Amino acid sequence: MTRAEKNFTAMIRHIVVLLTVIFVQASISAASSVDVEGVRFGENASATRFVIDLSGTTSPSVFMLADPYRIVIDLPNASWKGKADVKPIGVVDGYRHGLFSDDTYRIVLDLKQPAVVANAFSLPAGRGSGPRYVIDIKKESRSKFLQAVASSKPERPAVVTRATPEIASPRRRAAGKRVIVLDPGHGGPDPGNLGVIGVHEKVITLKIARAIRDELNKTGRYEVHLTRDRDIFHKVRERFRIARRHKADLFISIHADSIQNPKVNGGSVYNLSENASDKEAERLAARENKSDLIAGLDLDATDDTLTGILIDLAQRETLNYSAQFAEILVSEMRTDVPMLRRAHRFANLGMLKAPDVPSVLLEAGYLTNKTNARFLNSKNGQRRIAQAVRRAIDRYFAELNTNAR
Ligand SMILES: [Zn+2]
Repeated sequence: MTRAEKNFTAMIRHIVVLLTVIFVQASISAASSVDVEGVRFGENASATRFVIDLSGTTSPSVFMLADPYRIVIDLPNASWKGKADVKPIGVVDGYRHGLFSDDTYRIVLDLKQPAVVANAFSLPAGRGSGPRYVIDIKKESRSKFLQAVASSKPERPAVVTRATPEIASPRRRAAGKRVIVLDPGHGGPDPGNLGVIGVHEKVITLKIARAIRDELNKTGRYEVHLTRDRDIFHKVRERFRIARRHKADLFISIHADSIQNPKVNGGSVYNLSENASDKEAERLAARENKSDLIAGLDLDATDDTLTGILIDLAQRETLNYSAQFAEILVSEMRTDVPMLRRAHRFANLGMLKAPDVPSVLLEAGYLTNKTNARFLNSKNGQRRIAQAVRRAIDRYFAELNTNAR
């Protein structure tokens, strides 16, 4: 490169940085224009009322989904300032909420039975109340519910395509560096499971992922990307698509398990397989694959991410690498982190379906076991997991290089 070319490149780089700063600031200010100050439930003979207290006015979109019966409320440019969650009543069984995309905050209501939105309206501030959005929910037959679902179809594409603007085009790989994509499980309106210590899986997976990223960055040998670095939702298939866009050498999805028996503790590592290695692995895949459903998405029939899998030849090679890495990861984890006795497992997991990126899912431990949950939520636990993962990644690439010689 000549000096003039270098200067030009530097100038372009400056402009890009400036534009990025402006864009980020713009999206931050846009993303927090309305606060949700809390939600309330009420009930009378004919309906269950759901009230969202807001700091200002906004125009939410409301739609229904079947199987399971759900009502989804999308609040544009809103953020959550509400305190403790309240107990649902009436026809509402439970609810959750979180950032669905950069500009949409989502609340999902789970219904005990088919019930439709009979009324939905905004009220201005007045008589001791701030501005609020009110939804009246009425029990209905399944057939009436399904009719209502059809006429309340969400405007999904706009929301989904905006979910990950920051990685729309693959970045050029830093010279000689292996690319690792870490995927903190769950996020936004999909909290994952709630541990006995009262911390959601989505919070713990992000802490572990950040610890691994920092540990890998210290080596200077890796280019590390996170599928999310905040509390936001991604579709299951979007997670491995991010890995593919980065042309990742390795994809690690990070989760924390739950089980009925509170004594069970220890981590495990999963590879993709058409057949689950055992009943527990099968149940786990069913739970983890439910993420999209929990976040209020209608699973379209053409999406085979979660159902069928067709493993072709190219993918077989990827699966071999994935299994190799899983073996190494289990052995490195075992030296310093509690692990299940039979820790290398197989299941039909949607996020592991990139055909060309070796992928594993790390269940770092059980949130249903108090000691294990505290370990996963502690700085010490996160550091030990991160170091084990870093040792495993080092070893995996060292072995690949030896075999290539
Ligand atoms: Zn999970």
